[in-house]
Amino acid sequence: MNITLSEIDHLKMAKATNEKQVTILGSTGSIGCNTLDLISRDKDGYNLKALTAHKNVKKLSEQAVEFNAEMAVIADETLFDDLKSALAGTGIIAAAGKEALNEAADMPADWVMSSIVGAAGLKPTLTAIRRGATIALANKECLVCAGDFMMDQVKESGATILPVDSEHNAIFQIFDFEHPESIEKITLTASGGPFYNTDIAEMEAITPTEAVLHPNWSMGAKISVDSATMMNKGLELIEAYYLFPVDKDQLDIIIHPQSIIHSMVSYIDGSVLAQLGTPDMRTPISYTLGWPDRMNTPSKKLDLTEIGELNFIKPDEERFPSLNITRQVLQNGGSAPTILNASNEVAVYAFLEGKIGFLDIARIVEETLNKITFHTMNSLSDVHEVDEDTRRLSKQLVTGIIK
Ligand code: NAD
Ligand code: MG
Repeated sequence: MNITLSEIDHLKMAKATNEKQVTILGSTGSIGCNTLDLISRDKDGYNLKALTAHKNVKKLSEQAVEFNAEMAVIADETLFDDLKSALAGTGIIAAAGKEALNEAADMPADWVMSSIVGAAGLKPTLTAIRRGATIALANKECLVCAGDFMMDQVKESGATILPVDSEHNAIFQIFDFEHPESIEKITLTASGGPFYNTDIAEMEAITPTEAVLHPNWSMGAKISVDSATMMNKGLELIEAYYLFPVDKDQLDIIIHPQSIIHSMVSYIDGSVLAQLGTPDMRTPISYTLGWPDRMNTPSKKLDLTEIGELNFIKPDEERFPSLNITRQVLQNGGSAPTILNASNEVAVYAFLEGKIGFLDIARIVEETLNKITFHTMNSLSDVHEVDEDTRRLSKQLVTGIIK
């Protein structure tokens, strides 16, 4: 066959337009790595615009080289020289700092994975939203601390939010968006974490090593601790409120230790739709990466006969006070969710650093919420102010506990 140069150029162009332009905010974490795992199975189908990380220069630079990213950003500015040396001669742009995270989010990628953990992901996620991108949203904390503003920006810019969190991804798959009035309620399933059966007297002594060992999912340290305290489910309740057109009292939580049913939607006619699958985040991530099409994934296929039985238990709000706290926070609205998120972040990291006990996490969150007067939030700068004030107070409470 005789192919002329212009035909080759044409073929190249066709390939380029078929490639999905992708940015991953938080590429070195659990969600980021699972996303790259899916992309690695079809490297020609994707063009990596930007990858970002907090401190892990080695992993970030290896990923950037392997996936031929255009830009790599390390959030910790003190590591800029290390990143520059690691990427020397590759042609990949190295950048550092919070502003550079925003630049990464502003690169013209059609699909942005928001998988930075915590409120630190809010600004770059908003940057991607403002330019109307499709956002695969794993970072639930940004919705909890600034849900009203985020969703307003989504409406304004026409951005698309695709939920990655397995429960919300499940609901997204089964929710009748054209007939929300036909929905009675949403039920979020919770594995219950490693301690759903543990006696409250033993919970005081739970160590960080025990708390991060999740029975079904392999995840980053912060969300693993959140799952152990069940604050994760509380944050997800607020996340669901912002993502789906339902009222606050249409959100329910049930413990399902096998993590096979990822959530359910009950309809007014008595039908209950559920989404099932083995617990592997590559399934919900792939749903957002391929959307509106489905992708082939390496996730283990579900064999219900192998599992045998599925169990459901009512959550115990005495042993898991986070559930009650988050319900009240959702009712209060205004600055309450921002305070909840910031104080929880402070308390979880203090626990991971061995400064406070396991049950102190919920105590600090509750005490912080009791000490700060809630008010309405008028702007994004209000969110930052409340976030900062809360962190200051919660850190003082941590200091008060350390013996
Ligand atoms: P992780 O700790 O494994 O990774 C977090 C990523 O964020 C890393 O790339 C890290 O470098 C980056 N990061 C951390 N702090 C940062 C900062 N201050 N500035 C910039 N970057 C920073 O966390 P994960 O388990 O991948 O979770 C990521 C998000 O996805 C969380 O919000 C979590 O709640 C949510 N999520 C995770 C899972 C899961 O299975 N891991 C499931 C559902 C939702
Ligand atoms: Mg979840």
